[in-house]
Amino acid sequence: MKSKTGKIIVICAPSGCGKSTILNTLLDSGICNLKFSVSATNRKPRPDEEDGVHYHFMSTDQFRDAVAEGKFVEWEQVYPGRYYGTLKSELQGAIDSGENVVLDIDVKGAMHVKELFGDKVLTIFILPPDIETLRKRLIGRGTDAMDEIERRVNRARYEISFADKCDGRVINDDLETAISDTRRLIRDFIG
Ligand code: 5GP
Repeated sequence: MKSKTGKIIVICAPSGCGKSTILNTLLDSGICNLKFSVSATNRKPRPDEEDGVHYHFMSTDQFRDAVAEGKFVEWEQVYPGRYYGTLKSELQGAIDSGENVVLDIDVKGAMHVKELFGDKVLTIFILPPDIETLRKRLIGRGTDAMDEIERRVNRARYEISFADKCDGRVINDDLETAISDTRRLIRDFIG
């Protein structure tokens, strides 16, 4: 008898919406035995990032070769010249063996995964209360210059226009509420 296959949770959010904090809190709490799918990217690692843990870091040529060899479930050019993709090796084996997998990918990638895996997938969009709050949070983080902040705000406007296409939406106004709303959506879906 074939064992039960796992489910896929896709979390999308523009930068500055608190997605990583929400995701890490849920993963640390051990909810539904979620396994994090480590994406591949051609961007350089940040100082606190580890290869194979945060991303599989690749050169642009390695990324292109992986695309040509059909190694991705989906991939996108999220920012100019910056590629990100979900590896088949991270996803398929895990769900076939009954594990529940969580993806942190952009909204176009999320739609793609939904098309491919249908009702095995729950897509959740994390929203800021409004664009001004998002801009203030990005400024408050102090990690980006103003032109980069405006680029991220514009990208956020674009991504938010797809939020209605996701199965669930969570507004991150208060972090604790956003975490418990996300947890509830995941528990209801996985059962
Ligand atoms: P960052 O460079 O800040 O880690 O990520 C930038 C964006 O790329 C985020 O919105 C993140 O969700 C998205 N991303 C990360 N991995 C993937 C992936 O495998 N596929 C797609 N489509 N987007 C991804």
